[in-house]
Amino acid sequence: MDATAAATSVTNANPTAPATGPRYSEIVDMLLREGYVTDEQVAYARRVQGKLETPRRLLDVLKELDYISGDQVKAAIQENRLSMRIGSLLVELGYITEQALQNAFEIQREDKKRPKLGEVLVAHNFISQKQFLEVLSIQLGYPLVAPEFLPIDPKLFTRVPGRWYDSHMMIPIREEGDQILMAFADPLDKAEINAARQAFSQDILPAIAAPDAIRAAVDQARNGFSAGRSAAMREDSVVGQVDAIIVAAVEAGASDIHIEPLKDRLRIRFRQDGILVHHKDLPREIIPSLTSRIKVMCEVDITEKRRHQGGRMLFERGGIKLDLRVSCYVTVHGEKIVLRLLNRKAELIQLEDLGMAPKMLERFIEHALEQPSGVILITGPTGSGKTTTVYSSINRINSPQISIATAEEPVEYMIDGIAQCSINPKINLTFEETLRHIVRQDPDVIVIGEIRDNFSAEIAVQAALTGHKVLTTFHTEDSIGGLIRLLNMNIEAFLVSSTVVSVLAQRLLRRVCPACAAPEMPRPGDLQRLGYTAEAVAGAKFMKGQGCSECAYTGYKGRIGVYELLVLDEMVRNALIEQRTSHEIRSICIESTGLVTLLEDGIVKAAAGVTTIEEVLRCLPRLNRPRPLGELRRALGARE
Ligand SMILES: [Zn+2]
Repeated sequence: MDATAAATSVTNANPTAPATGPRYSEIVDMLLREGYVTDEQVAYARRVQGKLETPRRLLDVLKELDYISGDQVKAAIQENRLSMRIGSLLVELGYITEQALQNAFEIQREDKKRPKLGEVLVAHNFISQKQFLEVLSIQLGYPLVAPEFLPIDPKLFTRVPGRWYDSHMMIPIREEGDQILMAFADPLDKAEINAARQAFSQDILPAIAAPDAIRAAVDQARNGFSAGRSAAMREDSVVGQVDAIIVAAVEAGASDIHIEPLKDRLRIRFRQDGILVHHKDLPREIIPSLTSRIKVMCEVDITEKRRHQGGRMLFERGGIKLDLRVSCYVTVHGEKIVLRLLNRKAELIQLEDLGMAPKMLERFIEHALEQPSGVILITGPTGSGKTTTVYSSINRINSPQISIATAEEPVEYMIDGIAQCSINPKINLTFEETLRHIVRQDPDVIVIGEIRDNFSAEIAVQAALTGHKVLTTFHTEDSIGGLIRLLNMNIEAFLVSSTVVSVLAQRLLRRVCPACAAPEMPRPGDLQRLGYTAEAVAGAKFMKGQGCSECAYTGYKGRIGVYELLVLDEMVRNALIEQRTSHEIRSICIESTGLVTLLEDGIVKAAAGVTTIEEVLRCLPRLNRPRPLGELRRALGARE
């Protein structure tokens, strides 16, 4: 149906929203009023919306039904710009939730400085500056620009005294016809636009830019316009950008930086507490210079843009010194760069403070760490906290009576009294070479950073056979997976079964933010997915962070370890020698060794309000149906 044709009658017959039923969204109201959609279409979309399992906004349903396009929505909003408030627009276009908007209003009311809504939303991480400006640009119909990367017309810029820019958040960019394209931080401020019109004695074509961008552009422009200097400055600003991103990542405690070209911008995200968090967006124009800068820093080929590349760099600025591993990955939109922050100062955490349940901790000390010889495997994916557990364990067994030697890549934390070696292939101090020498050091305990190939697996098993205690990590999903993978590495089943004493699998789950935690039952569907009824979790103290400034409104702060400890007994050793399937071995482990799975440990921690069922479902493998809560608590010695 042609929306515009059908519209006239609606506008005439019913200029406002229908009187019956709940109020439509403001955008849908406006679309109706302006004749972009008909009453019938909206009524039908509402019925569809009511039948959907996952809630969707009415506007999205209308789009899905092809009653209106995204461009028509934008056009309609721009034509009616004065009738819609930015807050509603943000909610209805799906940038923030209604709840977030209400929270922002509250913060705004409580702040004596009376900040603007946009300032509150950006300052409290409800939305990025870029997103806010995007919506403002839709609402006002002004273009969104990045003046710091645009050539600024020097004649225009110097038409007013340099001081003038100190008190006005704007910068002229170029003449367009008889108007001046001028970027404003706040294009809603009529007084500012008038001031510009008078100062420049010309009509103004407003554009929107971030305050920081305007400040940077004004600084660059003030520092002169000669071609050479301008290029040098562009260079400077890119160098500064890269440094600023890395410093910000270190300060945020991030483990990785993702720099990814998208269709319309360069997106920068940090991985914090295991989750990617948006840091900022930069205009696409900066991509070539930013990419080259990073490639120069990590010494990879800057002319190669069609192949994946990798490198490393040492970053030293101010008090920060760290190793970065860089990966350049070719995508359809250009090279995506991921920087991994290595040897961030690992923290030494006491074994007791890792978050292991009391009975599990007891068994780990008695049946793993205090065994005279054998291999102790700590498994989990990257970023699951394996290294921290290794350091806590070494620290626990370290004593003047024993000799400990390590081969790490790299050493992340130095512990007094042990021989730690940081692998450095650049000077030929390779992993293989180091492992060959480590056994000649008369060690009681050998720490191998990671088992990553047959060679390191053999060294670990051989060392254990000759009476050493070996502590190492392995990249596998769960504890049984660790055993199976050793078998798949051509290590004889009897060797695995006679040398491995225990396998500790682990993950880190986000902790509920203590500042805004409130009791909240998990969604019934989530419990169902775990095979639990509401009665099965009666008495559990589920909590959920409601979002506050302490946790950047995520409801989570910091992380807690979740563990699965397998101590091999006769039954498991026999099952390994008999080459049973992983499923059979798993059942035997649970029945004969009292193994509590990662999933079960996670559930007990969620039931104690430390993390959430959502985190459990997001992060933990669901291989077996979890046992009842009471049984798990008894097995772990966990408090009710
Ligand atoms: Zn909080």
